Amino acid sequence: MTDALPGKPLPRASAESLPYWESAKQHKLLVQHCRACGQFWFPPSARCHHCLSGDFTWDEVSGEGRIYSFVVYHRLYHPAFERDLPYVVAIVELREGPRLLTNIVGVDWKDVRCDAPVKIVFDDDPRGITIPKFTIPERQSSAA
Ligand SMILES: [Zn+2]
Repeated sequence: MTDALPGKPLPRASAESLPYWESAKQHKLLVQHCRACGQFWFPPSARCHHCLSGDFTWDEVSGEGRIYSFVVYHRLYHPAFERDLPYVVAIVELREGPRLLTNIVGVDWKDVRCDAPVKIVFDDDPRGITIPKFTIPERQSSAA
């Protein structure tokens, strides 16, 4: 899936976030995992957000979670996003705990709800970066 326009600003990897962006290119979601307390955290940083340990690994996580909160953008703030309007910016809480600022894609914005289950999708931008986003999987057995 590629919905990028040439003028769309892209995230820039830092030294601390490079493993996150490099794994996204392989369509894997890697998050820092503390060896001292066992917690995952995001956004990337040199120390555990829970216990401040610097002893961690980058581990692949499920890519599943729930919408913690979201907003729907109806107003254009950057010309490159015109084709996306209206679009959803959300905080997704991963099953493993960390919360990511992201987009909910592939569903009508009117169907987006807090606490809705989501799964990851990877948006490959032709300029060489892959942006992790989320979608709401098709409803299992819940009523329509
Ligand atoms: Zn820790």
